This record gives sequence, structure tokens and C-alpha cells, in this order.
Amino acid sequence: MSETESLPAGIRWLRGPGAKRLLINGQWVEALQGETFESRDPATGELLCSIARGGAADVDLAVAAARRALDGPWGKLKPYDRQLLLLKLADLVERHYDELAVIETLDMGAPISRTSVGHRRVLPLIRFYAGLATAIHGQTIANSIPGEMLTYTTKEPVGVVGAIVPWNAPLGLGIWKLAPALATGCTVVMKPAEQASLSLLRLAELVQEAGFPAGVLNVVTGFGEAGAAIAAHPGVDKVSFTGSTETGQSIIRASAGNIKRLSLELGGKSPDIVFADADLDAAAAGAAFAGFENTGQICVAGTRLYVERGVHEEFVEKVAARAARVRIGATLDPKTSMGPLVSAEQLERVLGYMELGPREGARTAAGARRLTGEGFDSGFYVAPTVFADVNDTMRIAREEIFGPVISAMPFDDVEEVIRRANDSPYGLGAGVWTRDVGKAHRMARALKAGTVWVNCYMPLDPALPFGGYKMSGYGRESGIHHMDEFMNVKAVVLKTG
Ligand code: NAD
Repeated sequence: MSETESLPAGIRWLRGPGAKRLLINGQWVEALQGETFESRDPATGELLCSIARGGAADVDLAVAAARRALDGPWGKLKPYDRQLLLLKLADLVERHYDELAVIETLDMGAPISRTSVGHRRVLPLIRFYAGLATAIHGQTIANSIPGEMLTYTTKEPVGVVGAIVPWNAPLGLGIWKLAPALATGCTVVMKPAEQASLSLLRLAELVQEAGFPAGVLNVVTGFGEAGAAIAAHPGVDKVSFTGSTETGQSIIRASAGNIKRLSLELGGKSPDIVFADADLDAAAAGAAFAGFENTGQICVAGTRLYVERGVHEEFVEKVAARAARVRIGATLDPKTSMGPLVSAEQLERVLGYMELGPREGARTAAGARRLTGEGFDSGFYVAPTVFADVNDTMRIAREEIFGPVISAMPFDDVEEVIRRANDSPYGLGAGVWTRDVGKAHRMARALKAGTVWVNCYMPLDPALPFGGYKMSGYGRESGIHHMDEFMNVKAVVLKTG
């Protein structure tokens, strides 16, 4: 066996010849301008490969291909045909999952201990939407129109969907858009994030292998300009976007041209609330997970840690001790639980907040520094950080940092913590830790967040709707209603007598 053949499949794929290309109308093509950009491993700085830099003209071609596929054979397939194709895709993703995990780890820096269990999320997701493909139905509705009238509704695919994806969990977030779009019969122009495009490019190969017709999925890699071209394109009927609130706002503006439908999964600054009666060890493990998982680069990260005053000091110490024990290191080492931040820009941003905390008057209970030394110098590594003595007005308590930074604050009573937890422009997730079931339900009712977790943090399920209140966005992903985000409802009024 040659040296190359013995490498993990993900690394062999990355080292394949030439730059990675765009997928348009079933063909892998260079960007029209011929430009490329580099993808580097954020843990080591090593060059992984070059990727085609698509722009507005490439988006035009991708949208035209998606429209042709919609009007062509794809549009004529029955729900069961789409279901079978999705199930085949799920099988292929399962078979190639190790490869996808290695690619994602090298591309965006999440350790293999995290990416390698991602199949527990993405396979049920694809199969959930495959199931729903044959469950689409309208209603027969009683009417009061004079005469004999039959009235009913049907549901139709919304058309060409622009799927714009961020870098923090590209495979899972990309599949979360792709699978319902395909289940409903839409076609897709996908724009992966420039920082981490590669696992979605490999996924697109699997979509082809599964037998989806040409043009059903098109992928235009590149920077924000390609996303902006999708958002403004008159041939795109809907955009499903996950990313920052600022970009979401510019997509809302761009969508006005043809009144596109939008679903927006945006930023967060989620409260995690610990009552004195909670199992404090379980809560501390949960709080550390909520703040540090994926190096804090999670939209629902529980970064505002409210702790009931009587146990505040003790609890902060527990979380700080956990921060000190996080295993940070080489991302392909299965024992590593935290990798680097995704990019130099993200490192600069997160270090900026780590320096800001003490200037604003917070006490550093853990971390707040870049990691240096062997194994760290070429990567974007930071220490998991806990700030104590934080107050609600500090920027570290109000702004989304998107790094492993927890801001801990004491509280005295239920009404106060509800008011303070809700005093945020965001409303994505919230955690509550208590043994008092009445208090748990009261908190779940009062918190303005798309998901409230009680005595746990962050489990997701394909059947449960996920999304934001306020500036965390609108629309819901997952759950049976997610399919409606990709369909138009048509009312039919038929005079029968
Ligand atoms: P980002 O908004 O910078 O980029 C997201 C995507 O949008 C990328 O593909 C980017 O190229 C593209 N883009 C950039 N400018 C654009 C424009 N003007 N028009 C259209 N597309 C454009 O976000 P990011 O830094 O990649 O991701 C981090 C953000 O995503 C955080 O705020 C995080 O909270 C959020 N996020 C939210 C969820 C959720 O489900 N709510 C999940 C993950 C991440």
C-alpha cells in the first residue's frame, strides 16, 4: 500500500488534485473569474487545499440550473421517489461519515471527538425529512360561500432555495437546510462559509452519487459577495440563512427586491440559570459544556451564567475548575475535547473580549488568554474563560462573543432573574437548573427563548422546532412545521353546483 493509500479517506480527499470546484448543473466547474482562495487548518496553519471563489455570475448560472431542474425531471418526481433518494443519501453519509468528520475537523478546528459523533445528529435529521417527504398534505376546508363549493388546500415547493451556511458546524447546519428543501421538492443553491466549505463539498459529491438529478443541488463556494448575490437574486424564491444577526439584517434588505421568503437562524447570548436547589455538580458540568463546547462557537452557547447568590462563589469555582481541566490540543487526537478558534479574525475578536472583561471590572476566574507553546503557536488556541463579578451592562454580558467565554453573575430571586435573563436583544436558547418542578415550569413559560432546557443544556432532536425570538431570527428548523418553510399553500375553490 502506498503512503497516500494508507491515509484516512478524508485526508486523501483533501489532497486530491487541483482546487475544489463549484457544483453547477451536475458539473464541477471553476469559478467564471478563475479565482480561488485557500483553506487552512486552524489548528496548525497548514494549507489544506484551494477552493473556487464564486461570485455573482456563478450564482446566476447556479440559479438558472436550479430553476431548470425544478421545471424538469425533479419537479415531476413523486414524494416517494424523493424519499428514496434522501434515504440513499443518508446511507451514503453513514458509509462515508468518518471521512466527513476528518474533513470537518481539519477545515474548521472542532476536535475529532466532537465531529466523529456528529452522525448521531445528521443521520436522524436526513431520515426524519425523508419520512416527511411522503406526509405532505393539504386540507379540505368547510366554507360558507353561497352555492355549492368545494374548497381545499394543496402545498407546493416554494421553488429555488438559497441555503447560506456559517462555519461553526457546516455539515449539520447545511444538512438542516438541504434535507427539508429536497424533501419538499425544492432545488437548492448552497453557499458554504468561506472559513469551512469542505465537508459540504464532499456532501455534495454524495448527493450526486445518491442519484439526485443535475441542478437539484448546486454549490457556490466563496465569500460574502456570493451570499449577497443569492440574497438579492430575483430567481431565488427563498433564503434559508444561518449566521450572524448583522448578515441576517442585510439579507432581509436584499430580499425585498422580489419579496423572497426568509428563515433566519441568527446570533444569541443565551442565559443559563442555576438555582441553589439544583444538583450543582451536574449544573457545573452543564454550564461548562454550554459555554465551552465547540470552543464556544455555538449560537446557543450559554454564555450568561446567572447563579443564585448563596451558591454563586462555590459554583463559579466549580465551573472554573472544569475550565482548567478541558483537554485542549491536536484536533485529530481523540482525547482532545477543545480545538482552536476557526480563524485569525475570530481569534482577534475573542481575545479582544478576553482583554475587555477585566477592563470593564470583571474578575478572571479562569483563562482569558491565548495559548502558546508547542502545539499551539501555529493555531488559534485560547483558554476557556470564566469571568465573575460581571454585571448586566458590561459588553461581555451583552454581546455575542462566539468564543469559550462565560460571564457569571449572581441573582437573588426568580422575578429578578427572569427580567434580567430576558433583557437581551437575543432570544435563542436558555438553560434552567433546579430540582423544583414548579419553578422549572414557571421559568420555561417566562423565558423569551426559542428553546428552554431544564437540567440539561443543548440537546436537539429532529422532531423539535428550533429557532429564535427577537434578534435571534425567525422561522423554525426541525419539527414537522419546518417543511412549511419550504412550501407555498394554495387554496382551491371549486364550484360544484
Ligand atoms: P456570517 O453571518 O458572517 O456568515 C454566514 C454566512 O453568510 C457565510 O456563508 C458568509 O459567507 C455569508 N455572508 C456573509 N455576508 C453576506 C451577505 N452580505 N449576504 C449573504 N450572505 C453573506 O456568520 P458566521 O461568522 O459565519 O457565523 C457565526 C454566526 O452565526 C454567529 O452569530 C452565530 O450565532 C450564528 N449562528 C446561528 C445559528 C442558529 O441556528 N441560530 C447557528 C450557528 C451559527
